[in-house]
Amino acid sequence: MPTSALFAKPLPVVGPSFADRLGEPLRAAPAITKLQINLGLVCNLACRHCHVESSPLKTAATDNMSESTAERVLDWIEKNPAIETIDLTGGSPEMNPHFRRMVSRCRELGRHVMDRCNPTILVDEGTKTGIQYDWVPEFLAEHQVEVVASLPCYLEENVRYQRGKGAYDASIDGLRMLNAVGYGTNPRLQLDLVYNPNGAHLPPPQKNLAEDYHRELGERFGIVFNELWTITNMPIKRWRADLARRGQLAEYMQLLEGAFNPGTVDGLMCRHQIHINSQGELYDCDFNYALAMASQVKGGRLWDLSLGDLESRRIATGNHCFGCTAGSGSSCGGALA
Ligand code: SF4
Ligand code: SF4
Repeated sequence: MPTSALFAKPLPVVGPSFADRLGEPLRAAPAITKLQINLGLVCNLACRHCHVESSPLKTAATDNMSESTAERVLDWIEKNPAIETIDLTGGSPEMNPHFRRMVSRCRELGRHVMDRCNPTILVDEGTKTGIQYDWVPEFLAEHQVEVVASLPCYLEENVRYQRGKGAYDASIDGLRMLNAVGYGTNPRLQLDLVYNPNGAHLPPPQKNLAEDYHRELGERFGIVFNELWTITNMPIKRWRADLARRGQLAEYMQLLEGAFNPGTVDGLMCRHQIHINSQGELYDCDFNYALAMASQVKGGRLWDLSLGDLESRRIATGNHCFGCTAGSGSSCGGALA
């Protein structure tokens, strides 16, 4: 079946839909304190589980946030001091030419900035782009940016399965570069790692896995970091296609449905943040962005709206949302319960 036909079909659930399980519409919290910005879909990797389908084949000219959009977003941030945290994601956000401007201006404005960094980019030799990113660790340290580095496992085999040959060694080298400028040891330089499962199962308990990561990365490579966040794979885009190819999609959906945990609902990330894509268009989260499920707030682009328009807004949900409420829950900050 062509991929487009596969994605047009609703996700298979055996019981009540996500909306029926909740019983009432999901709404954002009365205070929104975080803006997550997708700076573009260009990435040096093309991971098997990537829910935004980033890759080196994306084009910087069309798939990255432009300078004029970046400036409009910065203006909006300046006017809305209640937005305490700016969460930069992609693709590889550092591959956007306006990344440095975005970070430095947000820091000048006194906001906390997070960079969702795939650590292989730090050692990318630029064979495809002609650009190297070895300046990134010092730049991030200078601006005291919190680094959220994806490392799907501490074992090479699992990283290779998800991210391709060479990704493990490059990740280790990238993490060493972050450690070398103080990440993980300097209390102002927070380094968090992100795990996601490499198969059709839920993440193990975050606390236990964090102990394993600390031990294994410390003993093998001397790598230090602050927190480990576990994230459930969402049954959308590449991961959905992968599950469908292996005949595991229905089984995975049943796993998510069966593990529905109402204790995770209050902490769902869509309730506490707003997400924009590289055009400044609004989504309740990056999963909804990947599914082209626009925010139900009228206006469409960030700069058309006040913060009050976003607070307590009704959130667009679907059965993919079972991925956020299963077991201990999952968000861009890890487990919820
Ligand atoms: S590094 Fe992140 S953005 Fe890039 S392809 Fe992998 S999952 Fe997607
Ligand atoms: S996918 Fe998760 S974060 Fe996004 S709207 Fe659904 S529950 Fe909220």
